[in-house]
Amino acid sequence: MQKKLKVPYLNLSKTNIKSLSELKKAFLRVIKSGRLVLGEEVENFENEYSKFSQVKYTVGVASGLDALILSLLALGIKNGDEVIVPSNTYIATLIAVSRVGARPILVEPKITTYNIDPDTIENAITKNTKAIIPVHLFGQACEMDRITEIAEIHKLNIVEDNAQSHGASFGNKFTGSFGLINATSFYPGKNLGALGDGGAITTDSKRLDTYIRILRNYGSREKYINDVIGYNSRLDELQAAFLRTKLNNLKENNNRRIKIALTYIQHLKNIGDLILPATVKNSTHIYHVFTVRTKKRDELQSYLYSNGIQTLIHYPIPPHLQKAYRDLEYKRGDFPIAEELANTSLSLPISPWITQSEVTHVIDVIRKFFKR
Ligand SMILES: *Cc1c(COP(=O)(O)O)cnc(C)c1O
Repeated sequence: MQKKLKVPYLNLSKTNIKSLSELKKAFLRVIKSGRLVLGEEVENFENEYSKFSQVKYTVGVASGLDALILSLLALGIKNGDEVIVPSNTYIATLIAVSRVGARPILVEPKITTYNIDPDTIENAITKNTKAIIPVHLFGQACEMDRITEIAEIHKLNIVEDNAQSHGASFGNKFTGSFGLINATSFYPGKNLGALGDGGAITTDSKRLDTYIRILRNYGSREKYINDVIGYNSRLDELQAAFLRTKLNNLKENNNRRIKIALTYIQHLKNIGDLILPATVKNSTHIYHVFTVRTKKRDELQSYLYSNGIQTLIHYPIPPHLQKAYRDLEYKRGDFPIAEELANTSLSLPISPWITQSEVTHVIDVIRKFFKR
């Protein structure tokens, strides 16, 4: 039986209706222009996103997964190469590595931040390692000082997976500006989300910018002249126009998320065995996902649901235990931290437009659960 939800995990309709008049204007601009692919909106969005991220170049592509794949291709990563990725990421990070023919090498996250543990990276480096993909998970920047240092010592490239952290920073730099080339996603539920699929790569390299532009468009710089065997992976004009509107509100919306997160943290500390998100020095967290942990995760999730509160699990099965990756021959117990996170994590409703009374309801129900 479907119970009436009082607090959905994420109400995208509400989020988008908040900027309805702006989105309508964007829609009309595109319709009137008559240009639907690779026009002014994409170009303007790319420039605006570069400015926002403090990078020289942005190239819009069709999705976050494509952004990762094209980034790895542009670095020449191929069959026989190894790429280091965290063991507790969304599976797209691994898929990108596999899709260019390389092997994802998993390393554990920190149990406190859920981000890749710099201490585990060096042990995983071999003569075949070409790159490290730090994933700024849930909205928190990875420890980019140490990761950059390790990459420099071993002459490895960094490709950031910035799908969940638009606008987060480490020190005085934004995520998506540390690696030689970086990928992000504008999937609707992300902090910067389109009204459909979209993604982008960010880089300071003129050479990589030029190459990705060719690669995303059939390998063509000039119509009907093809330099390489490319792809069709373009951000379209409508999504770019919508994203320009959304980008204007991103900082404010991230701040709303931070406020909600601080309310959760304030009212949920020292309750039962509940573990709250932790941020490390110099990292900011823009709370794409607000995850708590408890040994009674499944029970808490049902209890919340029976009180009209929808939660999600990021992620219920770690990549190394997925059927898709059985060829890597990993087994249960190989990545105990990723497995522990999969067994104990629960993501609470969070969005820029969740109301104070919805948040209070979530807090009250959780407190009641641990008092029973
Ligand atoms: C969403 C996501 C992706 C993939 O982005 P899509 O636009 O859905 O292809 C990659 N990595 C992480 C960490 C993500 O959260």
